[in-house]
Amino acid sequence: MADQKVTGYAASERGGLLKASEYTLPELRPDEVQVEVSWCGICHSDIHLLDDDWKITAYPFVPGHEIIGTVVKSGNKVSLVQPGMRVGIGWQRSSCLQCEWCRQGEEHLCSQNEGVCVGHPGGFGQRVQVQERFAIPIPEALDQEQSAPLFCGGVTVFSPLRRLGASSGTRVGIIGIGGLGHLAIQFAKALGADVTAFSTSPEKEQEALDFGASRFVSSKRTGSLERLNSHFDFLLSTVPASLDWPAYLNLLRPNGRLCLVGVGSEPVHFPSFSVIGGQKHVSGSVIGSPRMIAEMLEVAARHHIGAQIQKEPLARANEALAKVRNNQARYRMVLAVGS
Ligand code: NAP
Ligand code: ZN
Repeated sequence: MADQKVTGYAASERGGLLKASEYTLPELRPDEVQVEVSWCGICHSDIHLLDDDWKITAYPFVPGHEIIGTVVKSGNKVSLVQPGMRVGIGWQRSSCLQCEWCRQGEEHLCSQNEGVCVGHPGGFGQRVQVQERFAIPIPEALDQEQSAPLFCGGVTVFSPLRRLGASSGTRVGIIGIGGLGHLAIQFAKALGADVTAFSTSPEKEQEALDFGASRFVSSKRTGSLERLNSHFDFLLSTVPASLDWPAYLNLLRPNGRLCLVGVGSEPVHFPSFSVIGGQKHVSGSVIGSPRMIAEMLEVAARHHIGAQIQKEPLARANEALAKVRNNQARYRMVLAVGS
């Protein structure tokens, strides 16, 4: 069908530059919707995918999984959203909808889950197609562009903070103040925690305090970590690299938890006694379910939480990706795709 032809920005090889290209979307399934993309945030996972760090990338690769758009078509079994509705889409585009995880509303844990830009063209293109459950209506109160990054970055930090870490009076540390980290400060503060920001970029101090941190630690400075030993209930690492894990585990109080959402390329190493003494936990967290996204949006709307963004037209996708790669984004690049 002529109207299924879509233009987007695609890389044809590992680490390659993106170029405008045309492709055809597959026929819409009965439980899917087609969404015309207005805005798309750039997550560091798009860089990992472009570089095929995780060995799951299919080329040509059209990145983009922080999408705001409008439903333009719906399959004949769709009932949750209708054409004309403004929706957001994050990392996940589908799941089996039948396994124990899908049935209990934890679709992001389904073994059949698919990424919106993994083996499918993502939000750096005019249209995407997803199962209706993963096209989530946006509260009226939220600004479109600033909300795009909530759909991956936002829920990825909100979920562990909400489930495991941040509540009234808890001491939370956010490690890495990038796209995810600057949202994590805002959500942790909104959930009642006392928030410390750990950053390798001293120039981010004032903005980290403005996002809601009560303390900024310049983590490269010698001795900056040790003076906070045994201080934290919860540490969230959003860093896409290896850290001095034993030093961060020392910062936890007994029963404290270090949770990883950032993906480093090296295995995480620490001596057994880093976690045995003080009965500490090390865990990971992955995106969030549609239900968690809806709760995160509600909290964002109530507390006026949004990403601090820098906008670029889709035609400048390569320049925008380079800024993310070089830690120059402040704090999330958002592409104007069809707005
Ligand atoms: P980002 O915007 O690039 O921010 C990452 C921040 O980490 C940087 O701003 C920097 O903060 C710090 N950093 C970068 N390189 C570092 C290094 N070598 N050593 C120490 N600190 C460093 O990235 P993002 O979009 O927030 O994504 C962060 C990570 O989360 C990526 O690995 C991404 O794939 C992952 N992610 C995971 C999930 C999940 O479901 N688990 C979902 C989305 C993203 P400072 O300048 O403050 O030091
Ligand atoms: Zn992401």
